[in-house]
Amino acid sequence: MPGRNLSRDEAQQRASILAVDSYRVRLDVTSAPDPAAATFRSTTTVAFRCSQPGAATFLDLLAPAVRSVTLNGRSIDPATAYDGARVHVDGLAAENVLTVEADCAYSRTGEGLHRFTDPVDGETYLYTHYEPADARRVFATFEQPDLKAPFSFTVTAPAAWDVWSNAVHEDVVEEGAARTWEFAPTKPISTYLTAVVAGPYHVARDHYSRELADGTTLEIPLSAMCRKSLAPYFDADEILGVTKLGLDFFHEEFDYPYPFGKYDQAFVPEYNIGAMENPGCVTFREEFVFRSKVTDAAYEGRANVILHEMAHMWFGDLVTMRWWDDLWLKESFADFMGSYGLIGARTRYSSAWVTFANQRKAWAYRQDQFPTTHPITADIRDLEDAKLNFDGITYAKGAAVLKQLVAYVGSEAFFEGARRYFKRHAFGNTELADLLDVLEETSGRDLKTWAAAWLQTAGVDSLTPQVTTDAEGRITELAVLQDGEVLRPHRIAVGLYDRDADGSLVRTGRIELDVTGNRTVVAEAAGRPRPALVLLNDEDLTYCKVRFDAESLQTLRTGLGDIHDELARALAWSAVWNLTRDGLMPARDYVALVLRFAGQEGNIGVLQSLHTQAKTAVDLYADPDWRAEGGRLLADGALRELREAVPGSDHQLAWARFLAQTAGGAEHLGLVRGLLAGSARIDGLDVDQELRWSLWLALAAAGQAGDEELAGELAADNTASGKRRYTQCLAARPTAEAKAAAWSAVVDSEELPNALVEANIAGFAVPAHRDLTALYAAPYFKLLERVWSERTIEIAMRIVGGFFPHAQTDEQTLAEADAWLDGHPQAAPALRRLVLECRDDLARALRAQACDRA
Ligand SMILES: [Zn+2]
Repeated sequence: MPGRNLSRDEAQQRASILAVDSYRVRLDVTSAPDPAAATFRSTTTVAFRCSQPGAATFLDLLAPAVRSVTLNGRSIDPATAYDGARVHVDGLAAENVLTVEADCAYSRTGEGLHRFTDPVDGETYLYTHYEPADARRVFATFEQPDLKAPFSFTVTAPAAWDVWSNAVHEDVVEEGAARTWEFAPTKPISTYLTAVVAGPYHVARDHYSRELADGTTLEIPLSAMCRKSLAPYFDADEILGVTKLGLDFFHEEFDYPYPFGKYDQAFVPEYNIGAMENPGCVTFREEFVFRSKVTDAAYEGRANVILHEMAHMWFGDLVTMRWWDDLWLKESFADFMGSYGLIGARTRYSSAWVTFANQRKAWAYRQDQFPTTHPITADIRDLEDAKLNFDGITYAKGAAVLKQLVAYVGSEAFFEGARRYFKRHAFGNTELADLLDVLEETSGRDLKTWAAAWLQTAGVDSLTPQVTTDAEGRITELAVLQDGEVLRPHRIAVGLYDRDADGSLVRTGRIELDVTGNRTVVAEAAGRPRPALVLLNDEDLTYCKVRFDAESLQTLRTGLGDIHDELARALAWSAVWNLTRDGLMPARDYVALVLRFAGQEGNIGVLQSLHTQAKTAVDLYADPDWRAEGGRLLADGALRELREAVPGSDHQLAWARFLAQTAGGAEHLGLVRGLLAGSARIDGLDVDQELRWSLWLALAAAGQAGDEELAGELAADNTASGKRRYTQCLAARPTAEAKAAAWSAVVDSEELPNALVEANIAGFAVPAHRDLTALYAAPYFKLLERVWSERTIEIAMRIVGGFFPHAQTDEQTLAEADAWLDGHPQAAPALRRLVLECRDDLARALRAQACDRA
């Protein structure tokens, strides 16, 4: 999208001559409830200084129309100053006041000011989402993180609405059918962190107070809101309870009083990501308001996100990266703090590190093996690069590496470093060196070498144990082999496991050591009896792929589920999944492990990831000739475990959902239909609305859901969520017409909102329909550049990633992907990156299939 991009060089140049003193932003959204109104009035007045009087600069703005531009009292013709993405001004004075009046567009893609109308009651809701660079869709701005300033928002909205922003409102004036909300100036913050939420939201209020070390009391008003029609499901007490525990915890650890006054948390519709850390006004996807029963893993996930965003108030909002190269400075920390905080704040989610090891890190391992992987500190040339870097490296690998850093320098040095970092750089911008400075001070260690190995290089190492024994079965030598492009220093624990009297695999020895280079001898192990299982990286201190010696692997094949410790078991599951992905364990062997041991997996989050992975193993990694049998085995296993699960338990619900995902044969589909009709019952299983849609999806994908039946379900659940699930069901039907309709709805029009783009793609791409969707591989590659240039980046990313022919695991599709890449060296780097990653997934699937076939 040329013209809409902004390069690092341009941002540096602008920051080198400008300093921003303040923004005043006036928005008039009284037209929002009228669906025919496409735009709202936006007036920005920015006061800034320029160190080179006479110079020229530009503001960023994506608006259908600019009405006026005024610089220091001088009117400038918008027709010449505005090019569709930038407002150019020249002849700057040392001190400047620039006012831009524009008509900005209500968004349906979740970028900028998103507008949503609730099908339940016809109410309209607005919220903003900007990161990395969409504030410019709402007001004229210097859109880069290092030009911080105080913002004063004024919002005129329908009189029945409430409005929130980063700061508290100072005044509300009613004039006829409208009310105008004047908000206090914020502290100096980056443009991407500003926010407005407006609409007839349901609100729950609470309060947090805390005695500070200086004897004063910190008072933080709290609120949480969601759409009115979700209010019956809104467990605000639980949300605000986690919030207060988090505020206690971060104040203790960070020793810097929460700097942004009040703390609002808005759960908003059609949100593109999990949540966003706008200071004082955090936004979350409203799927975190649970309409139906979910497992405890979902509650844990939500609590993790609440703490992640709260950590950002310090890491990211108070101290912000200078440019997107150092996005990790906030995201890796927040991701780490999400899990660390769940334990440290004494929430009830005591398995947070199990979830982290098993699920969050799977994201990192996947991303880090793409050809497009990058160091944690990245090279971000422009905004498109930035958009793609909200990825498994910046979040999950970064967090895992921070966990390793804590093991390396100790938690006291780590947190004392954080405390100094906040005090030293409050309301400023930082780079890697600023963080290393404080950590070196507090740890007394030289961290340059460590940082070079862990933060400034890409890729994941594998650690493999090598065990030799004597005639009596005693270890003569245990060595750790390291394999990878960059051999790193790893602080690890080695766990030695044997069967106890009950048959459980329990740890009988633990050795902690530093692993360096390609071979490290574990001296302490010599002379001990050879254990049944050697588990490297026990306790998950470092970031690596764990391999096994032959005897340990045999122990896992016969007893993985018998490992008593939850974290060790999760690590073992993670390791065998990596073996499968790497084509070192046949997919059918992995499926056999899941079928054998998943039924005894106690951790619900781990169980749910086993379901996802087993399905992927069959759909993509198994020999196609075995696929049908593998699918049957999974469905049979799901049915067996569903019948055996404790009535009403999370495990029962998880197995019911897995049955819906795998059901294919007459027996399984018959039960699915019976559960929907009420003619079949599983004791304790509540077939609530979300589960009903999962069951309908199974029938739809099998071609057994009639149009009237699906329409009837939508009539019974005529909600935003119902509309999405209904759309997905329609697209998931196994007919050429259904696929054509879904494809066309996404590709041929820009009318669909983000949520329905996603629903259509999800329904279209049912792996079992690969024969139907194969026709779309060639059109897909033809379409790519047009999509990239015409659609917003959020929607373009979904189309490129979602319509890639993932299920066409054959050499021909791989060749088509290569042909596109070879033929389009000049395509946007971010577009090429997405296609390269999809292509790499495909190549990986072919390698795994070859392993499974052999
Ligand atoms: Zn974050």
